[in-house]
Amino acid sequence: MQKRDVDVTIIGAGLTGLTTAFYLAKAGKRVAVIEKEERVGGVIRTRRNDGFIFESGPNTGVYSSPDLVRLFDDLEGTCEPVFANSSAKQRWIWKKGRWHALPSGPVSAVRTPLFTMKDKVRILGEPFREKGRVKEESVAGLVRRRMGKSFLDYAVDPFISGIYAGDPELLITEYALPKLHRLEQDYGGFIRGAIAKRKEPKDELTRRATREVFSVKGGLQELTEGLAEQIGREQICLSASGLNVIRKDKKYRAKFMKDNLQREVVSDHVVSTVSGNATKKIFSFISENELRPILNLRYAKVVQAVALYEKWPGIPVNAFGGLIPSREERSALGILFPSSIFPGRAPEGGAILSVFMGGIRKPEFIEMDDKEIGQIALDEIRSTLDTGSQSPDHLHIYRYPYAIPQYEKSSGERFQAIAQLESQYPGLTLAGNIRDGIGMADRVKQGYASAQKIIREAQEKIIRQSDE
Ligand SMILES: Cc1cc2nc3c(=O)[nH]c(=O)nc-3n(C[C@H](O)[C@H](O)[C@H](O)COP(=O)(O)OP(=O)(O)OC[C@H]3O[C@@H](n4cnc5c(N)ncnc54)[C@H](O)[C@@H]3O)c2cc1C
Repeated sequence: MQKRDVDVTIIGAGLTGLTTAFYLAKAGKRVAVIEKEERVGGVIRTRRNDGFIFESGPNTGVYSSPDLVRLFDDLEGTCEPVFANSSAKQRWIWKKGRWHALPSGPVSAVRTPLFTMKDKVRILGEPFREKGRVKEESVAGLVRRRMGKSFLDYAVDPFISGIYAGDPELLITEYALPKLHRLEQDYGGFIRGAIAKRKEPKDELTRRATREVFSVKGGLQELTEGLAEQIGREQICLSASGLNVIRKDKKYRAKFMKDNLQREVVSDHVVSTVSGNATKKIFSFISENELRPILNLRYAKVVQAVALYEKWPGIPVNAFGGLIPSREERSALGILFPSSIFPGRAPEGGAILSVFMGGIRKPEFIEMDDKEIGQIALDEIRSTLDTGSQSPDHLHIYRYPYAIPQYEKSSGERFQAIAQLESQYPGLTLAGNIRDGIGMADRVKQGYASAQKIIREAQEKIIRQSDE
C-alpha cells in the first residue's frame, strides 16, 4: 500500500477542487487532490474538431465576483480571460413563432411585445411595492408579486431555464438567487437596490468584476489545466477508484485504488467538492441519516447538442443566444451561439450552436439515444433559425445526469446539515455545488473561501498550541 501525509485532501478536480487546492498550495500547504476521472476539469471541457473550438460543459461565465478577478490575476501568464463580443450582447426570447430581443433599456422595454401593457405600467410601481414577508418564497412567487406574470413567463422563466435548467415555481429565491432576495430585503426592491448598489464604494477587485460574459482564451479548459499546472500535477491523483474516507485519531484517511494499488492519503483537513449523491459512498463514517438532506438534493439532467456548421446557412445569429419560455412548449430550453460570443471559435463564415434540452421539466431527454436527440436538436435549429434542409457538418451530443443542483425548499435543511456535520467533524469541509451557488464564479468564490478558512484554522491551531 502507498501512503502519503498531507495537510489537506481535496476530493474532486473540477473548478471548485482545483481553486481550493491552488490557494492552499500557494499558501505553502501540502495538498493531495483525488479525482476519479482520468482528467482534471470536471464538467469543464473544451473540444476541438476541424478548426472549431467548443465547450461540451459550461460555455460562458459571468465575471461577477472579485474572487474570479483575483484568480485570473494570480494565473497571469498561464491563462487569460476573454470577454463576449459587444455584437453578441442581445439575448433573444422565443414568443409565438419568432425571436424577440430581451429589452436592454427603457425604450426597448416599452416597445417589446414580450410583456403585457399592464405589466409594463405595473413595473413603474415596483420601487414602491411592499417587501415580501413569506419565508422561502419561490422565484416565481416573488417575480409575480413585484413585476407581473408576463415578466415571469417571458423573462424570468427562460432565464431560470438558461441558468438552472429549472422551474421558477420550485426554486426558492433566498437559496437560488440570494442577490435578488437581498435586493428586496435590504433595499426594498429590485430597482431601488440596483441604484443603491451602483453608488456603494467598491474596492479595486470588485470594481473590476464587471459582470461581463467571459470565457478563457483557447477555451474554459485552459483555466482548469492552468490551475492543475500551478498546483503541480504530481499532487493530483487521477483515475482514483473506490474512494472511501474514514476518520481516526482526529485524522482523515482517504483510501482508494489506482493502477491496481491500494493508496492512502492522511490529512488533518478534507474538502469534498463532489455532487450530493456522490457523498454517500465516500464518507462511510457519516451515517446515511445525517447525510440524507445532502443526498436529497435534486439535480436537473441536461443534454447538450453541439452543431458545427462550416458555412452557416440560417438567419444571422448576432446575439448571445435564444431562450425558450416553458409556456411556448418547444423541445429545447434554449440555443446558445458560442461562435458569435467569442472570436476564433469557428472557421470564417461558420457557426457553432449549442442546443440545451432536458432540465427539471423534461428529465426523459437523458434516456433518449443520440439519433433521437440529434433529430430534435436539428428540428429546433431548422425551425427557429431558418437553416433550410442543410445539416451541420458535425453534431456532438453530451449528457449530464447530475448537471445543475436545484436550490429548492429542501435547501435550508441541507445547509443546516452541512453546518452541523462540519462542526461535528473538525477539519471537514463539505463544499462544491451542494451550497453557495451553481455558476463558475460561485465555485471560484467558494474555493477561495474554503482555502482561506483552512489556512486561518491552521494558524489558530499553531497559536493555541504555542500558548499551551
Ligand atoms: C452542462 C452544464 C452547463 C453549465 N453551464 C454553465 C454556464 O454556462 N455558466 C456557469 O457559470 N456555470 C455553468 N455550469 C455550472 C458549472 O460548470 C459548474 O458550477 C462548475 O464547473 C462545477 O465545478 P465543480 O468543481 O464544483 O464540480 P465538477 O466539475 O462536477 O467537479 C467535481 C469533480 O469531482 C469528481 N468526483 C466525483 N465523485 C468522485 C469520487 N467518488 N472520487 C473522486 N472524485 C470524484 C468528478 O469526477 C469531478 O471531476 C454548467 C454545468 C453543466 C453541467
